[in-house]
Amino acid sequence: MKVLITGGAGFIGSHLSEALLERGDEVHVLDDLSTGSIDNIEHLKQNASFGYTIDTVINEPVTAEHVDRVDVVVHLAAAVGVRLIVESPVHTIETNVHGTETVLKLANKKKKSVLLASTSEVYGKSKEFPFKETADLVMGATSKGRWSYACSKAIDEFLGLAYYKEKKLPVTVVRLFNTVGPRQTGRYGMVIPNFVRQALADQPITVYGDGTQSRCFTDVSDVVRGLVGLLDYADGPGEVFNIGSQQEVSILELAKKVKAATGSDSEIVLVPYDQAYEEGFEDMLRRVPDTSKIAAAVGYEPRVPLDEILQRVIDYLSTS
Ligand code: UDP
Repeated sequence: MKVLITGGAGFIGSHLSEALLERGDEVHVLDDLSTGSIDNIEHLKQNASFGYTIDTVINEPVTAEHVDRVDVVVHLAAAVGVRLIVESPVHTIETNVHGTETVLKLANKKKKSVLLASTSEVYGKSKEFPFKETADLVMGATSKGRWSYACSKAIDEFLGLAYYKEKKLPVTVVRLFNTVGPRQTGRYGMVIPNFVRQALADQPITVYGDGTQSRCFTDVSDVVRGLVGLLDYADGPGEVFNIGSQQEVSILELAKKVKAATGSDSEIVLVPYDQAYEEGFEDMLRRVPDTSKIAAAVGYEPRVPLDEILQRVIDYLSTS
């Protein structure tokens, strides 16, 4: 299979590229390196089945050329990371909405399948745990910048599903929950690389809020297995799938685990949300996926336990 991965030089995209090449697919990455990095795909460059183009998906002639050459598009290119979103809301909304609009329009011209990456952020402040794909989405006020990310990705989902319904374009939507692993940068706020970097440097580990908020973390290898499963799944188009794990941990507990696993002398400090992000910032207190749909469809089951996830990040950041 020939696959175009937008955002393929990013954290998840580079791991997906690797997995697809390993099973004999041809992969072309399109990435503007806004949050991705050429280092992430350096080791793939000598593979004859791999190619890459440094450009934005919004550049229509370039994206059209690459869409035409493949069988399927995995659209991962997006503005990600809560810090980036709070600091650059215009960029977030424009990148996420216009980028997906462009990819879907061009894929539709040649009727190429699309696997469209969305996010668990779309569940917003919902309290219907665990989150099922059919559940209501509960957004905050438009004055609170964080929700622009969730809404921009929800629009992407609507557009993808509309192309499926109205134009018979095979679009599958996947909502990724907190994904962790080597090559993830803490620059845009992601908690585990941040904590590990802080712990390794014996700097304070910054827990935002009171640390009782919780997340379920999934190793990138598990997420990639889910994505590959969906690429091969004939009944995916028109459907939405969660990919995540049920390994729930509070952020304070997570900080303690990172401190213990690194043997760090760092102190754990609580930082009010207003200081960490912006005045009036709203966090989600819990976020737990229901993964029964993807389990039934492609046999997806996360395999890497949290302690092992942490160890992999510690090993990566200790040597990079
Ligand atoms: N967080 C934290 N310290 C950090 C970065 C994040 O306490 O240095 C918290 C953040 O407020 C959230 C959780 O960790 O409650 C997960 O944050 P992340 O940005 O990784 O992902 P999110 O689930 O918010 O998309």
